[in-house]
Amino acid sequence: MAFLPTELRGGEATPTLIPCAIDQDPYFRLARDIAETLGYPKPATLYSKFIMALTGESKMSASNPDSAIYTLDDAKTVRRKIANAFTGGQPTAELQRRLGGNPDICPVYQYHLLLDPDDASVKKIYEDCRSGALLCGECKKMLQEKVEKFLKIHIERREKARDKVDEYRISTKIK
Ligand code: SF4
Repeated sequence: MAFLPTELRGGEATPTLIPCAIDQDPYFRLARDIAETLGYPKPATLYSKFIMALTGESKMSASNPDSAIYTLDDAKTVRRKIANAFTGGQPTAELQRRLGGNPDICPVYQYHLLLDPDDASVKKIYEDCRSGALLCGECKKMLQEKVEKFLKIHIERREKARDKVDEYRISTKIK
């Protein structure tokens, strides 16, 4: 992946920027170590963070579709996944009001953090959770609206981009 663009351009040194998850880091460190001795430019990487699984584990699992919201999930599926999501909340509303929740272990909060561009709004969710002013049901409802809005825009853009996919597809054979 790191060296392919150079090969496709007949050996013309072509820099690459590779988006990947942080667990792929060792491979690209190795590629950077050997690239120049093989005559290629060192690849650059752009790391993404793992999002906590909706089930509460540290990362999503491909074998459990309910551990994440997929970009092609319909509204009904999104509602079900969020409704069933693990939270950092207390077992009852009364306890939540009295003791507050724990957004630091809560995937619902992680998704607010991911999807809401307004830092003040996310900070308020954090503080209201901690103080007990916000209940998990309300918090999930807010998230559901954000996810549905995000997916609606994403799906519209995806449809518009459908005809452009071939422009970015590499079909050349490497000699
Ligand atoms: S109020 Fe929201 S952030 Fe806090 S524990 Fe419940 S779902 Fe998580």
